[in-house]
Amino acid sequence: MRKKSDLPTKTCPTCLRPFAWRRKWKLNWEHVVHCSERCRRTAKSAKRDRIDAAPLENLHP
Ligand SMILES: [Zn+2]
Repeated sequence: MRKKSDLPTKTCPTCLRPFAWRRKWKLNWEHVVHCSERCRRTAKSAKRDRIDAAPLENLHP
């Protein structure tokens, strides 16, 4: 018999907490990196901050 704790887990690189497999990730678990949408956005915006170091004028001529 399998226990719930047998579910696969990963560690979220944004909040550094371990999280367990969820049914909604059934199809893309191997691509799941963050524990939640919030962490995913945090990671994304952190990346974008670096890109936005370029002058804004270039985006709005
Ligand atoms: Zn997280």
